[in-house]
Amino acid sequence: MKNTAVKLKQTTCPYCGVGCGIDVNMDSMTLTQVNGSSEHPANFGRLCVKGSSVLETNDVSGRLLQPMIGDSAASWDEAISHVASGFKQVIDEHGPQAVAFYVSGQLLTEDYYVANKLMKGYIGAANIDTNSRLCMSSAVAGYKRAFGSDTVPCNYEDLEDTDLLVLVGSNAAWTHPVLFQRMERAKKLNPNLQVVVVDPRKSATTELADIHLAIKPGTDVALFNGLLHYIANNQALDTDYISQFTEGFDACLASVEQASLEQTAAICDVDVDDLARYFALFVNSPSAITFYCMGVNQSSQGTDKCNAIINCHLATGKIGKVGSGPFSITGQPNAMGGREVGGLANMLAAHMDIQNPQHTDLVQRFWQSPTISTEMGAKAVDMFEKIQNGDIKAVWIMATNPAVSLPNGNSVADALKNCPLVVVSDCNENTDTSAWADVRLPATGWSEKNGTVTNSERRISRQRGLLPPSGQAKHDWQIICEVAKAMGFEQGFDYQHPYQIFDEHARLSAFENNGTRDFDISGLVGLSEAEYDKFRPIQWPVNAAYPQGRARMFDDGKFFTPSGKAQFISVTAQAPKQLTSAEYPLVCNSGRIRDQWHTMTRTGKAAKLTAHISEPFVAMHPDDANLYQLQENQIAKISSAFGDTLLKVKIDSGQRKGELFAPMHWTKQFASRSNINVLYAPAVDPISGQPELKHAAVKIEAYQAD
Ligand code: SF4
Repeated sequence: MKNTAVKLKQTTCPYCGVGCGIDVNMDSMTLTQVNGSSEHPANFGRLCVKGSSVLETNDVSGRLLQPMIGDSAASWDEAISHVASGFKQVIDEHGPQAVAFYVSGQLLTEDYYVANKLMKGYIGAANIDTNSRLCMSSAVAGYKRAFGSDTVPCNYEDLEDTDLLVLVGSNAAWTHPVLFQRMERAKKLNPNLQVVVVDPRKSATTELADIHLAIKPGTDVALFNGLLHYIANNQALDTDYISQFTEGFDACLASVEQASLEQTAAICDVDVDDLARYFALFVNSPSAITFYCMGVNQSSQGTDKCNAIINCHLATGKIGKVGSGPFSITGQPNAMGGREVGGLANMLAAHMDIQNPQHTDLVQRFWQSPTISTEMGAKAVDMFEKIQNGDIKAVWIMATNPAVSLPNGNSVADALKNCPLVVVSDCNENTDTSAWADVRLPATGWSEKNGTVTNSERRISRQRGLLPPSGQAKHDWQIICEVAKAMGFEQGFDYQHPYQIFDEHARLSAFENNGTRDFDISGLVGLSEAEYDKFRPIQWPVNAAYPQGRARMFDDGKFFTPSGKAQFISVTAQAPKQLTSAEYPLVCNSGRIRDQWHTMTRTGKAAKLTAHISEPFVAMHPDDANLYQLQENQIAKISSAFGDTLLKVKIDSGQRKGELFAPMHWTKQFASRSNINVLYAPAVDPISGQPELKHAAVKIEAYQAD
């Protein structure tokens, strides 16, 4: 007999920036099965192992179910009052710059919107930053320098409709598996599709490569400057495109005058013939996508690396066309939504600029807020340094685990220990960060949250609340609004439902927007609760010109710079900040494994996900293992000038000599001394503020127990 109790609900995966649609079967109040949504344009029915295991990580075990002040359970009234009065007291005594919010790409756009509004428009500081700073802020800065806006030009279909796919600093097979499946299928269907992977190490992704360029870590700027030089010297410039749609080309070309093929191969430490094959492919392919991720962004020169890539696309006109463009992929499910609402210390809502007086005036008038911050706030690494030195005395951390995800982890933990007021709102009861919290606030989890997220191709999708909140948990937007009201901000936070916040966000994107701002979802203004509930995935902008959304940007050659032209940016290669030395002779790279997500607070609960790789490890070349007299599975101590960690040795001939690789997931919570972020210097890109999490100078030795 047909089971009429089974309902089907559509939502979005809580993990990576691919943003796959998930169909969930529900039997009464139980989630029974998940499948990839066949209609969702990100995945067309596919899911990776993380997404298909989401129900195994969704139970109530390990959840924080009631507010806690210190070790004591508290009522919501007590907790909200404690947080509000604590923040107010710090502001009264030390000013608004003494408080901060550190938020997350796990928040929904509606949560992010109200957090940003409270900090910038009501408290009057811009000390709100996000763990997305660690993920894609260099890509944002690179786009803004080149296009005048944080605009991703491409979409996922371009990955299938291209002649050349260049993956740089990305192990997409493990980190964005559904996109990688789409690439694999595209290559099967079109044997002429060429794939180049630029990555210092062999990975699951390099198996798809026709050419693998295992470049010396940190030499990406030299690589793409070399490509620009090659383009110019092989009559491959699109001179019409350059003259019609761009500025700054001559200076940029002059800056790469010395970047010959041979010199580039020597700097990048790759075979000159392989490099020549890649350059020739880029020049001769009618279309090309450069797909880049953390290996480019997580660098003290991340922004320059992004612009070096973009320069090559502008020089050949390979942008704004089917199958062409510089395509930055985000790590988190809603990194892009956070960008849209200005949830970074250097941005304002709706992609406006915090240092532009017209924009701050516009946003303040729209919000009718008592104040507006006109200065950039502290970016992630700076924020925790300001906590450490006492400039920031109250911090509210939402849905993230900075004690183990930021570089120089020992110092971050010290900062939290010494901060007078640490508030953590999270769905998890215990994290490495909540160990330092004065107040813990229970937030709803994936299956309970209701709102929107935006994926790497600008596609806004609904994450739907399937279950009621566990225990006393509340939605992040509700908690933020209650604290705002308790701080005395009666107006501006009176929402009853997330659709009202989304509507305000859409109206702000349209407010006095005469086409000079890229983020425009005026076509979504005025959605009723029922329409919001039925909302189908759509790519912004959504406006009168593009009522069904816009698949590809810059196909009209119009950019968002004052002149309307794209900018070539001259960039010069620089060395990473943490350099090897006689004491620390090895480079340690960090990354992700296939089945874990970030600091494992959720994926660590699923036996199926832990089965793939169950322990932290450090991969090293066999010659290095010989040199340091280390065996497979031996425990090694890896040390830098900033800290040390213990990891099991994995001998891997896919590593370059002199370089180590270790996954970033394991923390004190899961393996007491195996967090690798303690090794990294707090060095950041001077423009984006993104930390250099791919290049620590370390030494390795056999571990001797004390
Ligand atoms: Fe989720 Fe990313 Fe896997 Fe899709 S590819 S199912 S969004 S983790």
